[in-house]
Amino acid sequence: MKDIYTEETYQLLTELIQNKCVNPPGDEMKSIKTIEKFLKKKNISCKVFESAENRGNLVAVIPGTVKEASGLIFGPSHIDVVPVTKPDDWKENPFGGVMKDGYIWGRGALDMLFIVASQVQAFALLSQEKFKPKGDLVLFIVADEETGGAWGADWMIKNHSNELSVNNRKMFAVTEAGGVQINKNKFAIINGEKGATWLKLKFQGTPGHGSAPYSSDNAVHKVSKAALYLTDYCDNRMPIRTTYVSHLVKGLGMNFILRSFITNRKLLPIILKILRKKDPEISKVLHSLSRMTISPNIIQGGTKTNIIASEASLELDIRTLPGQDDDYVVFHVKKALKELADEVAIEKAETKEGIASMGTASPVESDFVTAMQNAIRKDFPEANLVPLIASGATDGRFLRNINVDTYGFSLFDPDTPMNEVVSLGHGVNERISKKTVELSLKVYYNLAKEFL
Ligand SMILES: [Zn+2]
Repeated sequence: MKDIYTEETYQLLTELIQNKCVNPPGDEMKSIKTIEKFLKKKNISCKVFESAENRGNLVAVIPGTVKEASGLIFGPSHIDVVPVTKPDDWKENPFGGVMKDGYIWGRGALDMLFIVASQVQAFALLSQEKFKPKGDLVLFIVADEETGGAWGADWMIKNHSNELSVNNRKMFAVTEAGGVQINKNKFAIINGEKGATWLKLKFQGTPGHGSAPYSSDNAVHKVSKAALYLTDYCDNRMPIRTTYVSHLVKGLGMNFILRSFITNRKLLPIILKILRKKDPEISKVLHSLSRMTISPNIIQGGTKTNIIASEASLELDIRTLPGQDDDYVVFHVKKALKELADEVAIEKAETKEGIASMGTASPVESDFVTAMQNAIRKDFPEANLVPLIASGATDGRFLRNINVDTYGFSLFDPDTPMNEVVSLGHGVNERISKKTVELSLKVYYNLAKEFL
């Protein structure tokens, strides 16, 4: 890749950071204009869609030459970013787009403006060199991912899915998350995500004087019991599914014996108990990949210290595996509650980020995944992909719901520590290494050539 192309990508990324498309309110049209201008300069046309005032989305297409061939979407890639809560804690101006020490600094640099910039540039290069893909190559830039996608990916798919040519041919998409090396030459590819449901459980009691508590009907007792029941059920009795765990351990190249232990539904709980002390991080991952999880996180109840509580509530953060629906959730919550199941009232809690969603997953093996692997091997000849289900939601779910197989991948500098990626997204001192931008630009460019 010529230096000038990577330099232009850094420049574009810097501008996107400086545009400060903080959501809410988003005002993403600013960055859409930046991208439109970037493409125009290279004589590439695109279409802009305004979903609400100042909320911009963009699509550009290189049409495929073979009618039945599969197509590739760069995106959905979002240009909005989350707010900066403590600007004084930052070493650099969070909206300066400062280039320093081999990094580009700023809110959104990692989540996910570096991907936007490298996908736009990869698309532009292919377009300028008159690349003739067999299936369509689509650039798909969206607003509003950080508050749920209603004015971004979701709106585009509801109103303009024909622009993505999803009705005509089989499409594959590459978007954010993934690409970090989790072990030597083992790169994570995100092939799906867990769903999220937030529930509020309400319990009633009988009010009475706090000085005579013997055998009282106390709502606080019930809610505390419920929290313990739910956690115990989640760890020890929740049905275990080993599909996603087995993708992980296979990808990691674990030895056969360890692999067969971990992917055995009866043995996994024992392994988790051992790992909890030895390697708490991996035990968390295996636990959440193997089941629907329930985390009781807000408890409220009672009104006065000397009155027996007549009302109490418990809020649950529930994360489902692909295919587990609302009925599945309620069935297991009630089963976990044992004798309390008869008296609980279950409500959907407010999801501030609007993330209530079903889990989704795309196949771990396909021509697309092979093409991705080949693209990575141009820089890392020994590389292998490790399919993972993410615990959080992205715009990828909207595409999976219309049958577009969607994967999270960008190519991280192998020197990037995993915890850096986890802590910097949405965090203080968010930044991306220039090496990662360069590698990602190359990998998207090569992916299109390999696959199309
Ligand atoms: Zn993101």
